[in-house]
Amino acid sequence: MVMEDDRKYFAENETILGLKIDVDTWRGTIMGLPSLANMLQEEGIRATFFLTIGPDNMGKHIWRLVKPKFFLKMLRGNAAKLYGFDILFKGFLWPGPDIGTNLKEILRMPLHHNHEVALHAYDHYKWQTRISKMCAEEVKLDNLKAFERWKNIFGGALPRAAGSPGWQLSEEWLDFADSKYCSSILYRSDSRGSVFGYPEFGRKVYEKLQIPTTLPTYDEVIGRNGVTNENYNEYILSLIEPGQLNVLTIHAESEGIACFDMFKDFVKACKDKNIKIVPLGDIYNKIKDTKRVVRLHMEQIPGRDGKVAIVSKK
Ligand SMILES: [Zn+2]
Repeated sequence: MVMEDDRKYFAENETILGLKIDVDTWRGTIMGLPSLANMLQEEGIRATFFLTIGPDNMGKHIWRLVKPKFFLKMLRGNAAKLYGFDILFKGFLWPGPDIGTNLKEILRMPLHHNHEVALHAYDHYKWQTRISKMCAEEVKLDNLKAFERWKNIFGGALPRAAGSPGWQLSEEWLDFADSKYCSSILYRSDSRGSVFGYPEFGRKVYEKLQIPTTLPTYDEVIGRNGVTNENYNEYILSLIEPGQLNVLTIHAESEGIACFDMFKDFVKACKDKNIKIVPLGDIYNKIKDTKRVVRLHMEQIPGRDGKVAIVSKK
């Protein structure tokens, strides 16, 4: 397979940054999403909001506290301050509140502010922890439930993009993504890596274009290798290059709440450096004619628990 040069799609003298905003929880939806949608609009910037539209059971993560590695990560990132104690306990002792039935207006807000919306999860906790274990039937039922809910929120429309939680993928998940049920979905963003393309996983090449997150997330780098809140923006900016794919994932729960001011400074710094922030749909429009096939595999990355989907050159 001949590897096309990124320069065909990204001008050498232009720096583009795709902005993916993951909204994982009730709190992130109610507090982080509106702040980010408003601030970005005021700055004249569009982004893609990846929405969670079912129950918020993220408090079930609390059971992971028994795992020492996760506990260290929570301490390093000061998770209680970052996410709030309410997130840490949601769905732990009682069923979590349903985001999609109660917060429809807020979920529609990105569209009203000219942003793009994409499907992130129905039940974020369940999908993040179970995608690798779900059989084809469960994958189908869960996704169809998500599509019904999406239609209910967005006036009968189906999602045009999707990205699974925690960069989790499986053969069953990718098979479903290529099925007739997903014909409205133009691209997926559920991997890490620096190359876009059609993912080859196992013995199959899948038909949905994959746009990976190229940059590390806040919780992956903070407190490691000398990265602090003081130099975090500078560090991320140093990783963004002209003439290539750059995609940053932020979280409504962190950059939309506790790290909001820092992220606002980041947006301003991007403007000063002529870095153009765009929704992932704009990147899709640039690269959609590609025939590039990329290798997809599951691997552990620094600062993150468990394996995530990685795309790399074939
Ligand atoms: Zn997420």
